[in-house]
Amino acid sequence: MVNSIAQLGLMQETLFELYKSPAVNDVELAMQDAMKRIELKALQFDGSDYTKRQLNEARNAIASELDIAYKNLFPDLQAESAAVATTIYNSYAGLVSINKTISKAVLEEIISSNQNILGYTFKELVNVTKDDHERAIRVALASGVADGSSTAKIVRNIKDANTRNVKQLNTNVYTILKQSRENATYSAYAEMEKLDFIDGYTSIGVLDGRTSEICRNLDNVTIYKPVRELPGYFLTPRHFSCRSKLAPHIEDSEEVPFRSSIEGQVANQSYGQWFKTQSPAFQKNVLGNKKYNLYKQGRYTIGSLADAKGKKLSIEQINDVLKNL
Ligand SMILES: [Zn+2]
Repeated sequence: MVNSIAQLGLMQETLFELYKSPAVNDVELAMQDAMKRIELKALQFDGSDYTKRQLNEARNAIASELDIAYKNLFPDLQAESAAVATTIYNSYAGLVSINKTISKAVLEEIISSNQNILGYTFKELVNVTKDDHERAIRVALASGVADGSSTAKIVRNIKDANTRNVKQLNTNVYTILKQSRENATYSAYAEMEKLDFIDGYTSIGVLDGRTSEICRNLDNVTIYKPVRELPGYFLTPRHFSCRSKLAPHIEDSEEVPFRSSIEGQVANQSYGQWFKTQSPAFQKNVLGNKKYNLYKQGRYTIGSLADAKGKKLSIEQINDVLKNL
């Protein structure tokens, strides 16, 4: 049972994927509707003949349609967040005898518009995304009109700007859901700590070329502290599109059973050990030329966060190093 907790943590990615699709669907539907009406508005005018009044009308249509779309999306995201948190918490609760339902206080915190997500509140993250989205579409419209482009071309540019921003929106939605998953996981871990077999947490990243520098360096690092006392930089997600997770370290057991890599599941090893076995082309691609050269000279070590003099840093010093990367 002890090992299954660590395994469950690592396998929850699959469970989580089930929730990604309905959320992405909500986004697609909300934005499709808004865009249809924005395009219709843009099509009413011939590009070269836009009057100031018509341009303003189109700009207002963009603002109000996106306002509605994002306003409707917010409660959907809150509902998805609560569903993710409940499912994840229950999957841990089913394994060990802890409170069977996630506490109301935790759920309320997870769906609260003030929930902290990578330095943004839930509400800010949605609003910032909306503002960027609106600006991009307005710029596409205004520059098309300024260039005297055809209406068809203006509509095409608006569509392209929209596609790019919906992609960004999906990344942010994913981040919001991931934060909800992590919050529920940490609540479950805090409950399990009371049973006394978790004595720390190990950062587990993905062994491929997309893992970020901070996550490469914290990979396989274990901090022996209760989850509520872990330093902020150690908690995941650490950045947008972060795929690292914290696996509970179970007393008297040294091994996480397996790791995901581009080659599929592989035996437990750190990112640094795995990286050493990769081709020079791959290594250069991940590190960039400058760091690759330092790496070959042994002056840049993955996993130890060696400073310029090659001295090993304590975990407390890592935070400062990472700030300066
Ligand atoms: Zn990461």
